[in-house]
Amino acid sequence: AIAALAVGLGACSSTRPADGGGDAAGGSGDCNVGIAMPTRSLERWINDGEQLQKKLTDAGCTVDLQYADNKTDQQISQIQNQISGGAKILVIAAIDGSTLGPVLQEAKAQNATVIAYDRLINGSENVDYYATFDNYKVGTLQGQFIEEQLGLKDGKGPFNLEPFAGSPDDNNAKFFFAGAWDVLKPYIDKGQLVVPSGKSPANDDAWASIGIQGWASDKAQAEMDNRLSSFYGDGKKVNVVLSPNDSLAIGIEASLKSAGYTAGADYPIITGQDADKANVKAILEGLQAMTVWKDTRALGDRVFQMIQEIKDGKTVEVNDTKTYDNGKKVVPSYLLTPEVVVKDDVQSKLIDSGFLKASDVGL
Ligand code: BGC
Repeated sequence: AIAALAVGLGACSSTRPADGGGDAAGGSGDCNVGIAMPTRSLERWINDGEQLQKKLTDAGCTVDLQYADNKTDQQISQIQNQISGGAKILVIAAIDGSTLGPVLQEAKAQNATVIAYDRLINGSENVDYYATFDNYKVGTLQGQFIEEQLGLKDGKGPFNLEPFAGSPDDNNAKFFFAGAWDVLKPYIDKGQLVVPSGKSPANDDAWASIGIQGWASDKAQAEMDNRLSSFYGDGKKVNVVLSPNDSLAIGIEASLKSAGYTAGADYPIITGQDADKANVKAILEGLQAMTVWKDTRALGDRVFQMIQEIKDGKTVEVNDTKTYDNGKKVVPSYLLTPEVVVKDDVQSKLIDSGFLKASDVGL
């Protein structure tokens, strides 16, 4: 299939030499793609970037892949360089989705097509497509997992809950939180869940008050340390932690460990997202209950397909045209489906599919 695509893309670029000519690798101005990823500090972005880069270069495209150390200014100048390098398609996983308007204006000036990758870019008309997982659903899965594990539907409780949310500058974070909170908040109202720290947003919109800047593990750890020392002094135990992703979960788990929590019946339920290696190990060791797995290979495949459709002048396939309003337009989106992974699924879902190697997680 890759060979066929290479021919397809090659043929397409050769019919449009006016767009900037080719290069030695067989890429051309026509298939000149800039990929801007947020950081190498999280496993998933490394995989995301490298997989897409490989697919595109195998298909004969010129690809510039950049990581920005979670620094917005750095990401903007990387995108500027990609534009001056002739990028015709930009694939951007934004650090701060509200700061890219001016640079996207420059992209439009050279007719580049912009695909928001995983995270929406806000406040700009110049976002053509958005490819992501169903972010609200990620939160729903976390909320429903907690609901089920604790028997909340059967009226059980009260349980001590500590909720966390993602980085306030990441548009996804509010969707993750809203998905979970729409399931859990009614149980707080009924008294089946209590939040001893008081860090319980009054509604979906108040999530940023418990957001962890930059999705940083150490910040989540420090926050959990504070909550444990200030609100759990009298032998009170945490029963459940809503963690929106794996990088936060790692910090929360380190904090619980230093407070003396060990795997076993009294260990809290902790949620996560991404199926990072360290977290899958934690799941196998009983130190994390679940992760929401988003097969980033499928996201890469989808974006690859979008790029082909754009290049071939075909209609770009989307499956959602109402959810992702960026303040200037509703961005046509393709949403993929996330799924829950628990201990018993690690082999069948993550390893058999080749997403992780058994040796990555000590199996
Ligand atoms: C992504 C998550 C990731 C988080 C931190 C979010 O935008 O959707 O998969 O865990 O960023 O990098």
